[in-house]
Amino acid sequence: MSEPSIFTRILDGEIPSDIIAETPTLFAIRDIAPKAPVHLLVIPKTAQYRDVTELAAGDPGLLAEIVELANTLAAEHSDGDFRLVFNTGANAGQTVFHVHAHVMAGGLDEKSMNAG
Ligand code: 5GP
Repeated sequence: MSEPSIFTRILDGEIPSDIIAETPTLFAIRDIAPKAPVHLLVIPKTAQYRDVTELAAGDPGLLAEIVELANTLAAEHSDGDFRLVFNTGANAGQTVFHVHAHVMAGGLDEKSMNAG
């Protein structure tokens, strides 16, 4: 067994972080290093998919649930408009290999339009 991901440790309460939304399959937290006025992470509870390509192939319905929760959260935390970013691979900036979506919203400036 590999080490649990940082997100699994947050879900299990081992690492403190406010869970701002939860469904039977997903949870959401605030990014610890926000790159936009609203910067949330929507994360499947399962750690079985490393990145969005694995998730799309293995469980497209769960990917659709991520999009739906991102939309709900963007409406709750901002004006409803949002960027959805899935870094895929270390060379693209992925650091946690437990698939997650960055939801960025709220007065996006040029810097946050290029971040994630
Ligand atoms: P990635 O770089 O894999 O696309 O995204 C991982 C994200 O997780 C980063 O934006 C990073 O700031 C965030 N992150 C890493 N560790 C923690 C943590 O312990 N708590 C929270 N809330 N976010 C974290």
